[in-house]
Amino acid sequence: MSIVDENNLCSDVSVESMLSVWQQQDVDHVWHPFTPMTVYARESPPMIVSGKGFYLEDAHGKQYLDGISALWCNVHGYQVPELDAAITEQLGKIAHTTFLGGTSPIAIELAFELAQRTPGDLNHVFYSDAGATAVEAALKIAVQYHAQKQSGAEKRTKFIRMDGAYHGDTIGSVSIGKIDAFHKPFEDLLFETMTVPSPVAYRAPQGYDEQSWLQYCYDAVEQILSQRADEVAAFVIEPLVQGAAGILVHSSGYLKFVREITQKYGIPLIADEVAVGFGKTGTLFACEQEEVVPDIMCLAKGITGGYLPLAATVVNEEIYSAFLGEPSQGRTFYHGHTYTGNALASAVSLASLKLIDDNKVLENVAVISSRLQQRLEEVAKHPHVGDVRQQGVMIGIELMADKSNQTAYDSALRMGNQIAVAARKRGVIVRPLGDVIVLMPAIAMPVQQIDELCDAVFESIQEVCV
Ligand SMILES: *Cc1c(COP(=O)(O)O)cnc(C)c1O
Repeated sequence: MSIVDENNLCSDVSVESMLSVWQQQDVDHVWHPFTPMTVYARESPPMIVSGKGFYLEDAHGKQYLDGISALWCNVHGYQVPELDAAITEQLGKIAHTTFLGGTSPIAIELAFELAQRTPGDLNHVFYSDAGATAVEAALKIAVQYHAQKQSGAEKRTKFIRMDGAYHGDTIGSVSIGKIDAFHKPFEDLLFETMTVPSPVAYRAPQGYDEQSWLQYCYDAVEQILSQRADEVAAFVIEPLVQGAAGILVHSSGYLKFVREITQKYGIPLIADEVAVGFGKTGTLFACEQEEVVPDIMCLAKGITGGYLPLAATVVNEEIYSAFLGEPSQGRTFYHGHTYTGNALASAVSLASLKLIDDNKVLENVAVISSRLQQRLEEVAKHPHVGDVRQQGVMIGIELMADKSNQTAYDSALRMGNQIAVAARKRGVIVRPLGDVIVLMPAIAMPVQQIDELCDAVFESIQEVCV
């Protein structure tokens, strides 16, 4: 009640009557992303009207702990005074001005900070608005780079992707994705891409043990590169963890191996850090953990602390230099979006980076990651938990009908969804990927709330998986 009044949304109408109007209009006019709308209407999704700290509040005044950081992007919580102030201050100057041939101090300052913090000579920032557009830009940059590079022009148009890859939902990003449920309907529209297997022991097919499967995965990369390197524009990878595939944590050392072998064959490496970037794996960028410097890095989700849409494709000197020259040489990258370099989004990104430093948030990630690891040992023993995967604050708890032989539940049961509904009753929001329960708390979440999250989710698993 109170919260709606505070926001002056309906001060003279009862919340209950407003709520039913909103619910009806939601069903009549809103098409939600990644949402089966028929089921959505039946399941009374929470109508969030405000958020503070790490809690969300719905129109009934019920509080929820956010266990998925607003789909993997929130960093410091909600109504963070420093972030709110950064936006207000920028709003007093200008909200947006074009970046096509023009510029603004705030977006320059952010590009400088990103260049400082990204590894190696990733020094040139191409802005866009979403993870998918950051990847889309990276793909086009890679192709045009080969056509213009100083070492001799080459036509290279093929990409290498991982099995289970997810890089966003625009057509180029879908072309390098490999999740059938999402990508199959568009098959005929997509460009040809080569696939390498995902080095994840739990997903070893029949006939392989852990070791022989990982060996197969390494060999597959060597084989494809040794045969087709001269066609390949770039190797695209989600470093350390494949998020949307079900929080698949790669075998340690694989990223470094991919960097070394792509270097050996002269193939640019595109690191999609959209999900893993900004602290979630324990370091600011996941690549740092294996001392890898990619040629192109894609950033989005956590970049603004979860406040506004902004993305960046950061490229190294070699790639950037291929686009230089007089306009008549035709080397320009003719690509961009109207809201590129948005000033409000840049302002809040800078404030979020500063807060990561000031509040020593990466130290908090270490604390809460080890607490999560401890707590996950409890749930791993549950008879229907087949596998628990963790890298930093990225967690996947995979449910199985029979864990002794990895028999999945009938997908019609929607076990993952049942657990999300049960957790919601306990005041916690999570969103599963099929039957993988995903926990992805904001990296600044204190350890007490980590316990609250684990309690609610583990109790929900107990309740549903009997
Ligand atoms: C979410 C995600 C994307 C897409 O980002 P959007 O902002 O939703 O377009 C791309 N790559 C990875 C690894 C992601 O997790």
